[in-house]
Order: sequence, then structure tokens, then C-alpha cells
Amino acid sequence: MIKRSVQQIAEIISAKNDLSRFSQIQISGVTIDSRKIAPGNLFVPFKGEHVDGHKYVEEAIGKGAAAALWQEDVPNPPRHLPIIIVEDCLASLQELARQYRHELNLKVVGITGSNGKTTTKDMTASLLATAYKVQKTEGNFNNHIGLPLTVLSLEEDTEIAVLEMGMSGRGEIALLTKIACPDAVVITNIGESHLLDLGSREAIAEAKLEILQGLKPGGLAVLHGDEPLLMERIQQHQGNIEVQTFGRNDNNDFYPIEITQLEQGNRFKINAANETFELPILGTHNILNALASMLIARHFSIPFAKISEALQKVKLTNMRMELVEGRHGEKIINDAYNASPTSMMAAIELVANLNGFERKVLVLGDMLELGPEEEQYHQKIGADLNPEQIDLLFTYGKLGAQIAHSAREVLGANRVFAFFDKDALVQQLEQHVNKDTLVLVKASRGMKLEEVVKALQKE
Ligand code: ATP
Ligand code: MG
Repeated sequence: MIKRSVQQIAEIISAKNDLSRFSQIQISGVTIDSRKIAPGNLFVPFKGEHVDGHKYVEEAIGKGAAAALWQEDVPNPPRHLPIIIVEDCLASLQELARQYRHELNLKVVGITGSNGKTTTKDMTASLLATAYKVQKTEGNFNNHIGLPLTVLSLEEDTEIAVLEMGMSGRGEIALLTKIACPDAVVITNIGESHLLDLGSREAIAEAKLEILQGLKPGGLAVLHGDEPLLMERIQQHQGNIEVQTFGRNDNNDFYPIEITQLEQGNRFKINAANETFELPILGTHNILNALASMLIARHFSIPFAKISEALQKVKLTNMRMELVEGRHGEKIINDAYNASPTSMMAAIELVANLNGFERKVLVLGDMLELGPEEEQYHQKIGADLNPEQIDLLFTYGKLGAQIAHSAREVLGANRVFAFFDKDALVQQLEQHVNKDTLVLVKASRGMKLEEVVKALQKE
């Protein structure tokens, strides 16, 4: 983590006050949470909508923080304490991270995309860790605050940092990539999340490609090559960068061949190696995430044999697509963490292709924040269902009902049930499951469909 004197910090972020009395104080590490102060931390308060972090500055210093920032428009700065007055605390946090990154002698891998960022980040870090000292974004700390904090937590002897970059709108990835200044980047895919803010998939592609703005000259961009929106734009890109692609199609640098679905994952080969790879994570979309990580690993000269060993042991930060068992012995894929049309289609495809079940049931809820065409997106999910592969559909919520609406055409009305009440849904569902049933539960976070999973598991 960053270790500097108050004097040095004050210079980097252009302090507005005289700190000569405190200049020798050493800070180590940065925190924005006064409840998690470690001795020597620099505390950064934010003026939030509800609470103003400045209220906790005294307390933070009392608990061992070595110093704190203070935003100049907040009245009554406690000048007797080691506070560094700045114009804007958030901008200062970001500037500090940017400077620190440049002082570090390490390589940075930046990962963005609509789906699969955290998964790819975790896989990439595992592969690189076979040969390097690696640090990665903890959990999902991927935004304008989380990324700078992650950078500031990097150790001086770390060799590669793998950083997740998320966004909530245009310009955010540009900001993050300019802080992280990556040597290599990944764009996992272009989906529909943030369609509401950005307006179109083209705009989402543009926003993800902002990651190139911070990529070092000569750096590597690893892209989902099956996505025309990325490939068209990358061909027009002016900078000096190396591009490599992964995807299902055989015009990519890495593509999978001979995929076998295992009970808890996938076995596959790729076009460019002799090894067989085993990935203990469900879903063929995770093979794509693995291919992206493998391109990065090869860029850093990790041999395929090592890659194969490490993939076998990959564990995800927060197991999405968790496989659990219900009280009637049914297998439930709990993917209630989030949903967009892309990830919902990927999950349904996974269910459709898993062997060894007599009955396959989907429990799908609303996908939120899709903008004016939200109904069409839901209807398309229903219309694309394959009646040979999916036996029953249960939907929850108003938009979920749109999935049901179009699904009735393909599955038949007697195989589709739409609900607005979770208890009623569970009650009905339980009459259709046994130990040979596979159930997929998926919706946007806000729909809280994990409650359905819990109810199905209750003894
Ligand atoms: P967030 O925006 O919440 O940080 P993320 O991009 O980090 O999400 P993950 O947490 O890795 O994504 O995965 C979330 C879900 O997205 C998974 O449970 C899975 O359903 C889906 N998913 C993951 N990878 C892909 C992919 N390559 N293509 C489509 N869907 C995917
Ligand atoms: Mg994530």
C-alpha cells in the first residue's frame, strides 16, 4: 500500500493549507471508511447525499489515522489536526492513485466489459499468479472510488495488478484507465447493461473502448472477436496497440474446440495448444472468460501446462451460477445475482445443454434498466426458447410476464406460468420438481429471486 509522508502527499494533490507542522508524519494506506481505520491510514472523507464523511475526521484520527483530507468548501476545518485541505476529495483520491501507479514498477491488466469482468479478473489473476506476485481488485471494487483505492493498496513488490473497471455511464472507463494506465486490457463482451443510460449497444461499445485511452503505447488489447461492434471500431483505432481476440468463431486467435460439459464445469481444448483444459465453473460463456485470461497469461509468457494446472483450481470471488440442491432433490442453478439479456441467454443455453436431467425448468424475473425497449428484450428471451430443451417456464414480475407472453407461443400455454408473488410461484414450482429436475433461477438483483432459491431449499 502507499507509504508517503504528509509532505509528499500534500505536494501530489496540491494542498491548500500549510502543513509544515505535520510534514514528517508518515501515512500508510488509504481508507474512506472511518470504521475500518488501520493505524497510519490516510482517511478520505466524502460529502455523500446522506452523511458527510467530514463529520468522522476527528474520530478517524482518534482511532489511529495519521492524517485526513478535508474538502475546502466544508466549513470549520479542525486545523489543529493533520488535515490536508483540497479542492475536491474524490479528485484528490484519484490523483493520488494515478501518481502512485506511475511510481510503481509493475504491470497492470485492466478488465472491462458488460458481463464477466469479475470472473475474468479472478481467472487472469490465478493464471498470472503461477509465475508472478499478483494483486487484484477485491470483490467488485471496480468504480471511480474502488479502483483508486485498489491502486493505492498495491504493494511495491507486486509484479502484476489485475484491475476490474466497471462503469455507470460514459467517461467512467476513460477516467479509470487513465488512473490505472494498463499494459494490457480485456473487453469481455458488449451486452445490454446500461442501455438505459447509454442509449444503444453501439454507445456501450464506445464506452468500453474508452479503456484504450489509458493503454500504454504498444500495449495489448484482448477483445471478444465475435462482437462486430468491437471489431469494426478497433480497425479504425489509430493508436499503436497489439490486438488479440478470443471467441467461439474460428477466426479468433483463441477459440475453443471439443467442449465437454462436466457436472461442475467444462473440459475443452483450444485451437492454439495441445493441452486439454478443465474449468470447474459452469457455463460455456465461462470458457470465453477463460480464453481471455489465457491470452493475457500467454502475453506474460505463462506456459500452457501451467495455465491448465491453474484453471483447474480457479475459484471465483463470489460464486455466481452457484449449484445448490432443493428440498426435493432438484438441482438449482442460483444465478439471481444479476441479469441482462446476454447473461440470461448464456444461462439458458447452459441449462439447455446440460445432460442428465429429465426436466428443465426456468425461473426468470425482470431484467431491469434496459430502457424503452425493455419489453422487446424480454419477449425475445421467451421467443428464443427451444421447446425441445426447456420443459417449463416460471416468470416473476411485470417484465418477466413479457417473457411468459412470448414463450407461450413456442412452449405452449400449459408449460408457462407467470407470477407476481414469490410464495405462489414456489408453491406451484414445487409440484413440478424432483431429483431429476434442473432449475435455473435468474433475474436482476433488484428482483431478489434468491428468496425463491431459499424457499426451495427450506426443510
Ligand atoms: P458486475 O457488472 O456486476 O461487476 P461482472 O461483469 O463483473 O458484473 P461477473 O460477476 O463475472 O460479471 O458475472 C456476472 C454474471 O454474468 C454471471 O453470473 C453470468 O451469468 C454472466 N456472465 C459472466 N460471463 C459472461 C460472458 N462472457 N457472457 C455472458 N454472460 C456472462
Ligand atoms: Mg464485477
